[in-house]
Amino acid sequence: MHSPVSLKPINKLLIAAYAREGVRAGPASGPDLTVSAFGFWTAKLALEYGTPFVVAPVSQTTREIPAHMHLRWVIERVKKILDVDDWTAQKLAAITMDVVRQSGLRVDMQAVLFDERLEKSRAKILKALHDPDFPPAQASVAIGAGLLPWPETSLAALLELIGQDFTFAEVVSRNPTYLWNGVPRDLSEVDSAHLDWVDLRDGKPVAAELGLGLCLVQPYDGVGRTPSQNYHLFSPILHYRAAQPTWHTSGIVSTSYRETDRVARGGRSLADMIGGPVTSLPRVHVCPACMAVYAERPGATPHRCKVGGPNARDLVKKLRARFGTGRTAFTAKDLLADAGPPLDRNGVAVTPEALEDFLHAYRGSLGLRAFDGTWNLMRNPAIKLERSAAADASETRPGA
Ligand SMILES: [Zn+2]
Repeated sequence: MHSPVSLKPINKLLIAAYAREGVRAGPASGPDLTVSAFGFWTAKLALEYGTPFVVAPVSQTTREIPAHMHLRWVIERVKKILDVDDWTAQKLAAITMDVVRQSGLRVDMQAVLFDERLEKSRAKILKALHDPDFPPAQASVAIGAGLLPWPETSLAALLELIGQDFTFAEVVSRNPTYLWNGVPRDLSEVDSAHLDWVDLRDGKPVAAELGLGLCLVQPYDGVGRTPSQNYHLFSPILHYRAAQPTWHTSGIVSTSYRETDRVARGGRSLADMIGGPVTSLPRVHVCPACMAVYAERPGATPHRCKVGGPNARDLVKKLRARFGTGRTAFTAKDLLADAGPPLDRNGVAVTPEALEDFLHAYRGSLGLRAFDGTWNLMRNPAIKLERSAAADASETRPGA
């Protein structure tokens, strides 16, 4: 996901800026002073934690808030490393922060929270990034400071959560979908992937939003006079509200990327940005047994269904049969009282509680709405849990 960012160009700028103030700094001091702006004591420590630095030009970071710089910390480090008086240290600290800010260097907060390789160090990185002199403006830093709960951090759990959002499992089930992790910061169609803010009042979070650094890509053909390649890009985000104090998704927005048009006007193709065809990205599926959305990634643990819950494919067939015969209002207990009740994934009768939880979790994709404690089928469930020959054939077409 990340190639390490070289701090060398920033170090050179820093040393030159100090020299203009008449202070000589050795090249070895640059990295420590650079990372001090983010709250790290030494560059060695930031490296040990695997801190995912990125360079994102300031003008392109549209919806991101600027990285917070730790003033008091930088002053202390300047004093200690460059052995200067208080007055000079304050001046050099301001210069340091300016140079770092202008360079566009920042920490990739989505990687800190969600990159599986940082599982052991993310709490330490967040602790360094929290400036005790200022309340956090970033949700990620607020999580590290214990002001917000931790969201799910594993990709499997996040994809499962996304799949339960409105009709998203259905959307994924019907068309080839790919996982694009680590989307570029200058692609405005997916700028919500890098959202990271919290609104604190009296030290308590009122609202927060957090992008996941990823988007899901669905290729589709344009219907104009000439064939064109287009993509739906879905960038799910997590929301937090004081009234519902857990991280949840609510309505995944999709944007369109009309690649043929964009390339004709000198823009980039997705393949250019990805570094390979879209079809080389991990494929995202809906599990026909448990309906969880999951990604098929080489080297990653294969999807495993959670224990309990009905067999999804079998349940969808039963719901379609009910829709066909007009018996569209029912409770979980009614379903279990039917001849041939829904079974779990081991072929055993499912409990009413497990069935109710499942209907609630996937109500959008199943076409269900609750009225007065009764489920109502609003449409014939259109989720596709059987792989068709047509879907498999469409996978072989080039996606770039
Ligand atoms: Zn499953």
